[in-house]
Amino acid sequence: MNLEQILNKEELTREEIIFLLGLTARDEIESLFKKADEVRQQYCGDEVHLRGIIEISNYCDQNCFYCGLREENFNLSRYRMTPEEIIETARLITNFGINTIVLQSGEDHILDTDLIAYIIYSIKQKTDAAITLSLGERGFDEYRTWKIAGADRYLLKHETANPKLYSAYHLKQKLSDRISHLKFLKILGYQIGSGNMIGLPMQTIDDIADDILLCKELDLDMAAIGPFIPSPHTPYRLKKPGDVDLTLKTMAVARLVLKNVHIPATTALATLDEEGRIKGLNVGANVVMPDFTPTPYREQYQIYPDRKCMNDNPLNCRACLQIQIESIGRRISSTRGDSLKLSPQQITNWSFK
Ligand code: SF4
Repeated sequence: MNLEQILNKEELTREEIIFLLGLTARDEIESLFKKADEVRQQYCGDEVHLRGIIEISNYCDQNCFYCGLREENFNLSRYRMTPEEIIETARLITNFGINTIVLQSGEDHILDTDLIAYIIYSIKQKTDAAITLSLGERGFDEYRTWKIAGADRYLLKHETANPKLYSAYHLKQKLSDRISHLKFLKILGYQIGSGNMIGLPMQTIDDIADDILLCKELDLDMAAIGPFIPSPHTPYRLKKPGDVDLTLKTMAVARLVLKNVHIPATTALATLDEEGRIKGLNVGANVVMPDFTPTPYREQYQIYPDRKCMNDNPLNCRACLQIQIESIGRRISSTRGDSLKLSPQQITNWSFK
């Protein structure tokens, strides 16, 4: 196959995606990265959107093999933030000029429909921020209630588009269910995010190509692609971490295929590679998701160990990100960073402030 021709095509076939993911020559990989950066510039501009994450609970009813929050990890000390702590942290995030709040937790059903709706509504009363929920698979009625309360977006990663691998990693869950949830969230008017992990046990390059194609089929607003990092006290604790170069190639190919989609440079990538955040922003990413979970909770949200910036305080974190982003000629956005696929009118119609 001819690399130049493939990089200049509008649509890529599965075979061409597999070819790009399999590139090994450094100059060819650099050509892929350069093209992805151009496509990012064309569809997203030079602004980088910050999304402030609050990890509101590390309880989880699921047992995903790769995750340190899994229910059967009895070595983890568990916490659940109070509504007041969450609302106050959200206000603090917006004081730093960050206009998206991500409320993230394991699948914790003690955080019930009404409690989450109250938190969403309260944050909306006190701030102009967009709210992303990342609370796992929940009830369809819950999604509807939270949308009416003011939630804007829902992040639910599919992790792998291979149904057999999905069932191997998540014993109680099915890939088809996850896809149904994402489609229903879209129908409700959420801006939806999903994505996958690179380097999970038994995964092949073909599987990663299918991950990218699933992101396209779902018509995502955000696609989060990060490396697998083994976590202690999980069945995959002795497995190898995902490869940084393959993660970067996947992000770059995703940018070529998905075009006007938000793609974050993930914390997992920055954890495996000191320069990971900048490298990610240079191969197609346009979003960074700093963690604003207050101490002592932050250390206990151990999906994987030794997370980047674990001990940063919010003020340092914002300043450090600004220096990093400006060092590559980009700037932090002052907007909410809504979907690149929706008109301002469509976004306003779904806002219930
Ligand atoms: S990945 Fe999510 S659902 Fe699975 S164990 Fe971790 S927190 Fe729970």
